[in-house]
Amino acid sequence: MARYKEAVCRQCRREGMKLYLKGDRCYSQKCAFDKRAYVPGQHGKRRSKLSEYGLQLREKQKVKRMYGVLEKQFRHYFDIAEKKEGIAGANLLIHLEKRLDNVVYRLGLATSRQEARQMVRHGHFTVNGKKVDIPSYIVEEGDVIQVKAKSKKSNRFKDITESTENRVVVPWLSADLENLTGKVITDPTREDIDVEIQEHLIVELYSK
Ligand code: SF4
Repeated sequence: MARYKEAVCRQCRREGMKLYLKGDRCYSQKCAFDKRAYVPGQHGKRRSKLSEYGLQLREKQKVKRMYGVLEKQFRHYFDIAEKKEGIAGANLLIHLEKRLDNVVYRLGLATSRQEARQMVRHGHFTVNGKKVDIPSYIVEEGDVIQVKAKSKKSNRFKDITESTENRVVVPWLSADLENLTGKVITDPTREDIDVEIQEHLIVELYSK
């Protein structure tokens, strides 16, 4: 499976914002963006003014990197979002939020989306009682996400449930961390998605 090869923290510095890709480290003093909030490289401190195209491109890259999605799949999500009723940009973010790896992360069952993706791929979760090991699986209202009985014993899940310090469960999900279970109460709205993104720039970019 293809994935980003650039060093993780460089991606935040490149995009000029914290993308929260490294779990608990992102909330600690070790965060590279907090220490060096400028673009990596020799001329990184000299941020040049971006063109309209540059702004649109950067906004798209931010979202792709945040959710760990590559161009082909992202474009596919945009096509789906455009066909739906409502605002294409908001639909796009809502679709990304409903990916199983994001839901696992949002429920507090993983410290980052990257970790969530790996755990899903390793078959640690069920949706409505059936094993699902596809990170891009789209959840629906009423779905119950659970850590498999066998996996509950693993130290990784013990650690996760014991350190809930930086976990805030979003309003469209309910979590029962003691039983390593979560439920999709309803579809998320744009207001539920706490990412500082100007999604209309992505729509403009793809509409050229
Ligand atoms: Fe980004 Fe997290 Fe690295 Fe900070 S620690 S730069 S938020 S990935």
